[in-house]
Amino acid sequence: MNHHALAIDGPAGAGKSTVAKILAKKLGYTYIDTGAMYRATTYKALRLKVDLDDPEAFGFLDSTPMTFRDGILFMDGEDVSEKIRTHSVSNNVSVVASHIPVRNKLVAIQQKIAQDDNVVMDGRDIGTIVLPQADLKIYMTASVEERARRRHEENLANGIESDYQKIQKDIERRDKIDSSRAYNPLRQAEDAVYLDTSHLDIEQVSEQIYRQFMMIIDAKRSE
Ligand code: C5P
Repeated sequence: MNHHALAIDGPAGAGKSTVAKILAKKLGYTYIDTGAMYRATTYKALRLKVDLDDPEAFGFLDSTPMTFRDGILFMDGEDVSEKIRTHSVSNNVSVVASHIPVRNKLVAIQQKIAQDDNVVMDGRDIGTIVLPQADLKIYMTASVEERARRRHEENLANGIESDYQKIQKDIERRDKIDSSRAYNPLRQAEDAVYLDTSHLDIEQVSEQIYRQFMMIIDAKRSE
């Protein structure tokens, strides 16, 4: 790999995207939110009214450009960041993300981006499948209550309607589907650093990862 990569995986609401954004900024790397790509696929499938349970119904992805600009996902040239955060997208995304053709298509796009750029990429299968050669892999988690609380506060801060109980149920449901699916499930890579952030400050977590990452990069540079 010519470019550098930091892979951050973990269940919903563990703080991955917040930490990934801070680190990308600090490192001057491109931030890639792979969850947004699965959400955008779900959003478009809902709009096209295709059968979400049919793995073969996602052929539209072949003519659906997805690109990132400043950490924001553009699908078909449109900023979809708000449209992909609705309840109906959150409720259906894990089923969509369990389909092999959908994963193969999106993983290929993610790998291409990482070939061309230094990236901080977050998701569920980055360390295991997308970028197994990443310079550093982090597996970040937190208790389900804490993760639901963070998502709830994030929604409120972004002016998105939010119900804590619903979020907790949604997170539990998604975790179950994401970690039990047959193809590329959510799991910790053997060489990933495990981080439980339940009682940690996000800034401290970012600083800790940053130092670890820079040590690895500096050592590689002086090889
Ligand atoms: O990261 P976020 O919670 O927005 O991801 C939404 C969903 O997309 C996850 O619950 C999971 O089903 C799917 N996903 C995935 N693989 C990734 C990133 C997200 O299956 N690399």
